[in-house]
Amino acid sequence: MQYRIDQKSGNSLSALGLGCMRFPMSLGRIDLAKSEKVVLSAIEQGVNYFDTAYIYPGSEEALGTILDRNSMRKKAFIATKLPLASCHKAEDFDKFLSESLSRLKTNYIDYYLLHSASDLKQFNDMSALGLQDWLNAKKKEGIIKSIGFSFHGTRDEFLSLLDAYPWDFCQIQYNYSDPNYQAGVTGLKKAAELGMPVIIMEPLLGGKLVGGLPKKAVELFANADSNITPAGWALDWLWDQPETTVVLSGMNTVEQIQENCALASKSAPGMLTPENREIYVQVNKLFQESYKIHCTGCGYCMPCPKNVNIPGCFAAYNTSYVMGFVTGIQQYATSTNIISDRKSTAGLCVECGKCESHCPQKLQIRQELKKVERRLEPWPVKAALAVAKRVMK
Ligand code: SF4
Ligand code: SF4
Repeated sequence: MQYRIDQKSGNSLSALGLGCMRFPMSLGRIDLAKSEKVVLSAIEQGVNYFDTAYIYPGSEEALGTILDRNSMRKKAFIATKLPLASCHKAEDFDKFLSESLSRLKTNYIDYYLLHSASDLKQFNDMSALGLQDWLNAKKKEGIIKSIGFSFHGTRDEFLSLLDAYPWDFCQIQYNYSDPNYQAGVTGLKKAAELGMPVIIMEPLLGGKLVGGLPKKAVELFANADSNITPAGWALDWLWDQPETTVVLSGMNTVEQIQENCALASKSAPGMLTPENREIYVQVNKLFQESYKIHCTGCGYCMPCPKNVNIPGCFAAYNTSYVMGFVTGIQQYATSTNIISDRKSTAGLCVECGKCESHCPQKLQIRQELKKVERRLEPWPVKAALAVAKRVMK
């Protein structure tokens, strides 16, 4: 494993961190036995940064249980997050932190983030509730070791937030598909200039830079180096940059851990050649031509009161451009249970708008769902489904 130094705390952090939002599931719940194998395998191979959040269902409990029962707490830096959007009064800060500590079976958090800080106004509103004093006090007591924020807003808001508090670190979405999206490369460099470790999330854009690449793009990578997978290319792009500290990956099998740890151990700042860089440009051009709706599949917009499977609809829509119309329709039919009474299709949207305020990618979900419906439920498909339903009855 390669390690990068957090200059603020002196911690030596693994270049690859485990994103714990998507632990292996079974029967709708986190599969603790499988998750344990993943976490222990990661630790064995040198991963020491584990990212979870109060709002990831079951994740803090699972991580806490695994570390506790294997006596691994001291081998892991735990990062978890305060659900800012649910904080309405000063007591909420203590309430959420206490619950996180209890779920994680620990008495301190190594890296504590304000979850999805959106802009300076929100931070100032929280500060008026006493947030800054509270953070300072928790740090002084040793309950929080490093204070940071995760971010999905605009670059300018990011730069304003950097100046608003003496942060110890930050976490941004960043990958080769758009180096200027959200905080972007400008935000990355500015944070690094301030001596802050930068944790990278969505390095694979919710898997789109693996499963969502057009065939020609995959071939371009393979022709350049057949030993590196598209995931490896995406991670290398980040590790090449000296400002990157930890790249989070939501690995949920031991095989993925092994593959990514092997890549991380070979990685180094400045590792890419000019020829490699040109490959990313060509791949990204093909990707942008086929990738229509920039949904990462995070699920923050769910549940929808009308049961629309929002990320499922968007994934199928993108697939219909990347892999062909028929494959997209098949994926749509499966992910929305289109012929059942509990279907979750785009057409069920009543445009209440509840989902949009939760979307970190700021997608116009209502408008995008209309596009999905037009493309994946055209009238011949609707007619065929009506017939299929009658036959099934
Ligand atoms: S706008 Fe549509 S998709 Fe979003 S929550 Fe409302 S009904 Fe669901
Ligand atoms: S629509 Fe937005 S919130 Fe919902 S899954 Fe996609 S990116 Fe996440």
